[in-house]
Amino acid sequence: MTETVKTTYNQPNARGYFGEYGGKFVPEILIPVVQQLEEEYLKAIDDPEFLKQYHELLEEYVGRPTKLTFADKLTGHYGKAKIYLKREDLCHTGAHKINNAIGQILLAKRMGKTRIIAETGAGQHGVATATACAKFGLQCIVYMGAEDMERQKLNVDRMQLMGAEVRSVESGSRTLKDATNEAIRDWVTNPEDTFYIIGSVVGPHPYPMMVRNFHRVIGDEARKQILEKEGRLPDYLLACVGGGSNAMGLFYPFIEDDVKIIGIEAAGYGVDSGKTAATITKGSPGILHGSLSYLLHDQNGQIELAHSISAGLDYPGIGPEHSFLHDSKRVEYHSVTDDEAMEAVKLISKKEGIIPALETAHAFAWLEYMMSNTKEDEIIIVNLSGRGDKDMGTISENL
Ligand SMILES: *Cc1c(COP(=O)(O)O)cnc(C)c1O
Repeated sequence: MTETVKTTYNQPNARGYFGEYGGKFVPEILIPVVQQLEEEYLKAIDDPEFLKQYHELLEEYVGRPTKLTFADKLTGHYGKAKIYLKREDLCHTGAHKINNAIGQILLAKRMGKTRIIAETGAGQHGVATATACAKFGLQCIVYMGAEDMERQKLNVDRMQLMGAEVRSVESGSRTLKDATNEAIRDWVTNPEDTFYIIGSVVGPHPYPMMVRNFHRVIGDEARKQILEKEGRLPDYLLACVGGGSNAMGLFYPFIEDDVKIIGIEAAGYGVDSGKTAATITKGSPGILHGSLSYLLHDQNGQIELAHSISAGLDYPGIGPEHSFLHDSKRVEYHSVTDDEAMEAVKLISKKEGIIPALETAHAFAWLEYMMSNTKEDEIIIVNLSGRGDKDMGTISENL
């Protein structure tokens, strides 16, 4: 969006593929719909008026730019490289997801759509979408598995308070993948007036590219801020990866630089436990939610239920661009367990006075593995994707 850094490393091809991954695996009737979305999106980001409105909202409503905070106590704890935190926890609603929701809402408005649909697992994307819809006075319908609605009642209340209708999905495992099926069914039925807001760098082309571009403001800001503070680029970037949007947002403007980039998945009980969400580590290519990418499935192609202590990483897929960055070895992917993430929550809270989201804690947990190999004159930027208040129930149970 902000063209502070030009990058050509990995634009998807004309059919929406990053290397072998991506594409548009949607029902026939939606092919012209995603085609039109792509055309309208490309026009919008060439329109200075659209960009101005988007950046004004990020500034006045979301609270950007977010700070790049030097974590002096955490740095002292390890006694190695300097650790900086990109503070997406300071965004309105407490996480990065709002950057994308605002971008897509503006596009929906521009396209004359009157009805917004979304699906949500933990409810975080639902809340970001409901927030943006309230701000713009648009009808908002959020599909959510019945099981998830019970587990995440607070987020259901938040969405309803802001005027969204939360539709309970009773089919299948009554979780995210069933909610996604329902959202796609709705989209197929109402393609004229409905805009489907997808919450991560997943889904059919152009979503992975578009969502990344709405989040690249994270990396654009971080780049400028670290140059101001240190006069040079960092040596490492570190972020947690669910679908992969906060990570892509930070990584993208640095992709062509000499910076080591690391994405951390949720191993759950352990990558070989059968209760994991470590898609790249444990999965293989397949089709889910409209695109071809790494995913967790059995020999029969049946999608496996993912597990992670953090609801936002509890997803059996990953964005196609991450699959490409993995295969091309530009980005390193690793995973940490639920227990390691919990230890990281405790450490960051004590050392920095910041309670990180359980998702974010996965990125911090990797510091235990990497810090001893770093040097005192090196610099790390960790993407602090969200704050942990929403997770206090789970955190309390595990203390
Ligand atoms: C949703 C969420 C994530 C995971 O989503 P990505 O698309 O991988 O960024 C990470 N952190 C927080 C705080 C979240 O709410």
